[in-house]
Amino acid sequence: METAIQEAAQLADRLRAIEGLHLETAVPLKAHTRFDVGGPADLFARAANPSALGEAFVATRRAGIPFYLLGDGTNVVASDEGFRGLVARYAADGLVYRDGAVEADAGGSLQALVDLTVEHGLEGLHTLERIPGSVGGAIYGNAGAYGNQIDQFVQRVDFLDGTRVRSFGPRECEFEYRESIFKRRKDWLIIGVRLVLPRGDPAALRLRAAEIREIRDEKFPPTMHCAGSIFKNLYLESLPPGVAEEVPARAVRSGKVASAFFLERVGAKGMRNGGIEIASYHANLLYNRGGGTAAQIHELVIELKRRVRESFGFELEEEVQYAG
Ligand SMILES: Cc1cc2nc3c(=O)[nH]c(=O)nc-3n(C[C@H](O)[C@H](O)[C@H](O)COP(=O)(O)OP(=O)(O)OC[C@H]3O[C@@H](n4cnc5c(N)ncnc54)[C@H](O)[C@@H]3O)c2cc1C
Repeated sequence: METAIQEAAQLADRLRAIEGLHLETAVPLKAHTRFDVGGPADLFARAANPSALGEAFVATRRAGIPFYLLGDGTNVVASDEGFRGLVARYAADGLVYRDGAVEADAGGSLQALVDLTVEHGLEGLHTLERIPGSVGGAIYGNAGAYGNQIDQFVQRVDFLDGTRVRSFGPRECEFEYRESIFKRRKDWLIIGVRLVLPRGDPAALRLRAAEIREIRDEKFPPTMHCAGSIFKNLYLESLPPGVAEEVPARAVRSGKVASAFFLERVGAKGMRNGGIEIASYHANLLYNRGGGTAAQIHELVIELKRRVRESFGFELEEEVQYAG
């Protein structure tokens, strides 16, 4: 135990010496996650540039201490016990439109990227209006809404693989619905992206973005402590025989059925566990009413999975990610 504390102290000293890294200790993760749950991270660092992030990652790994890269924390449930290691936030947020392409640092906000594309009359990302989080988080989970996903426009993703900067094209990123290779390679840290979008009608893009903003602000009020949808939606063709036939055509979009369709049928709406509640209008939306914990979220998730498994014979998969 004492050795572990000494190792953490030595690591903290090494991290403090890294230029461009701002280190804090015992930082409550609830302050860095939209769900507003999570105990303290022993070490919490903001890295201003790729070399600071890379050096922090290498030093932490060498010390045998866990490392977690956090974006804006809008899709993370952080453990009530916190994180016995280093939680890092990549802070570089450069964003430029150049030669018909957009280049964005991973630490910037997805909304700023969306706004820039709309401003320049570039079509596609306007439907991602009001998806909260960072550019890096959006690439990691292939964020999308209203018919578009970010991977459709990715030309290149730059990342640190522990020792050097590498770049992948969209195929190498292995994007799928809410998936990318970065979900399987947690040691690869996304630092930037280059996107190419087709031209559109700026007025029409602005109008559609404003419509989406209105719908989303009603569904997910900006002050709501949640992670958006807890579970991924399901490909119709992946459902067990018999279940797929029960799904009406109106519930299928782009070959997928909302998991809310099944959750509603197992009585999810309005369920409550301590401070965590499921929205009365959306069976796939868990939120923290105040004073909720990660354990309560976890218990509800397990109960919902059990109900869906027993009623429909398949397993729901979380979209939300766990830290600690
Ligand atoms: C109200 C609300 C509505 C939402 N609606 C949608 C929606 O419509 N569509 C949608 O797709 N999502 C939606 N989400 C989920 C969330 O906004 C997205 O998943 C978002 O892209 C997460 O970005 P983030 O920066 O907050 O990532 P975080 O929550 O901080 O992290 C999520 C995961 O990404 C990893 N990660 C973050 N940055 C990097 C990086 N630079 N390199 C490698 N890994 C990284 C983290 O390790 C973690 O595992 C919603 C969330 C909320 C709260």
